[in-house]
Amino acid sequence: MLLPAPAWAQSILRDAETEAFFRASSDPIFAAAGLTPQSVHMYLLHANSINAFVTGGQNIFIHSGLLLESDDVNEFLGVIAHETCHIACGHRLRTGEAYASAGATSVLSMVLGAAAILAGGTDAGMGIMMAGQSMAQGQFLAYSRGQESEADLAGARYLETVGMSGEGMIRFFDKLRDQEILAQVRQDPYIRTHPLNRTRILQLQEAVERSPYYGNKPNPTLEEQFQRLKAKLLGYLYEPRRTLRLYPPSDTSLAARYARVYAYNKALEWDLALEEAKALVAMEPENPYFHEIMGQILFENGRVKDSLPVFQKAVDLAPDQPLISTALGQAMVSLEDKALMEKAIPILEDATRRDRGNSFAWFNLAKAYSWMGREAEASLATAERFYSAGNPIQAVMHAQRAVDSFKAGTPEWLRAQDILYVSQEAAEKFQKQQRRQQRRRLTFDNQE
Ligand SMILES: [Zn+2]
Repeated sequence: MLLPAPAWAQSILRDAETEAFFRASSDPIFAAAGLTPQSVHMYLLHANSINAFVTGGQNIFIHSGLLLESDDVNEFLGVIAHETCHIACGHRLRTGEAYASAGATSVLSMVLGAAAILAGGTDAGMGIMMAGQSMAQGQFLAYSRGQESEADLAGARYLETVGMSGEGMIRFFDKLRDQEILAQVRQDPYIRTHPLNRTRILQLQEAVERSPYYGNKPNPTLEEQFQRLKAKLLGYLYEPRRTLRLYPPSDTSLAARYARVYAYNKALEWDLALEEAKALVAMEPENPYFHEIMGQILFENGRVKDSLPVFQKAVDLAPDQPLISTALGQAMVSLEDKALMEKAIPILEDATRRDRGNSFAWFNLAKAYSWMGREAEASLATAERFYSAGNPIQAVMHAQRAVDSFKAGTPEWLRAQDILYVSQEAAEKFQKQQRRQQRRRLTFDNQE
């Protein structure tokens, strides 16, 4: 599985602050559409192109490029409102044959495997290929023009319900419209999956102008959070030199410092990164995410012991954020000390209970169990890790071990059985798909 990731492979970026922002900004829009907000999930994909799409029922995937290209939060939420209708209005994509055979329900578990944790290590290697395959399939999907118009009008309605101006939606689509004249390969995928034309924008313009909130500025709290996230994401993704050009050290605004923390960290300039992180903590001592990144810098710099109280502070400030708990748990586990292992177990158990797809938390939990001689639980946690990382072949192996070591009928035994059953099926499907692709590749080579 350790092949170089193909060009179309994309990974999910996981970050506590981003996920909290997604919830706070978008839940009201989901509710306005008549959806149950908790059942809609948003995922940030590491991909430079502009795209957002709905798959596997109520999951919205957002390319990092879309977030970075949105000038303000209203542009971003305009796209979210549009996507929300694709869910709430029951739009089915015209699916390609390959997509249908892959099974929409398995897409999500595959995709989750590619999750990388923004402020932290990655455990992405295993799931990345499968995620890439399911994402590549997304490329042949497109909504009809009728569905697009419906999504525009419904989106404008949702925004009006929550008291937001829909102007940002138009601004964002206008930017994409410039791409209509480009050759398909140079277009962003969004314009291919959501066909755009002049009539569509004019119609949307009319609807948006009728709203009493037309022309209102974005909500200042959301706008501030959004600009911070953009700075953080940019610092994490761009080459440090590029980030420092955009946010030179002379810029002492909070967003600029936030971008530079990640840029310096990426450039392995630990001292500079730590200095910026300290400045951020001084600006907002109660902000859990600033303590989180400070802990991360210490941790990555090998100062693991120093990172513990800093992570602990972040957890105290945000006790309901499993990704931050995971960072603390990881730091504890990595010290390979029995007393800390024991302490880490309940923290990681809690994190995995609230975030079952967090393969990185499962990995650390398995290690802690194993250290404490709790081998059956270690096998089950490892099965969970590979299951959530979209690696059914490894999941089968460890789930079988867990089935053999737990007493029949216990909750752990039942869970291991479930993973075994689902993963066996997925493993077979995956192997069949691999063989089919190999055959296709061979045929293609012969034709050449
Ligand atoms: Zn659309």
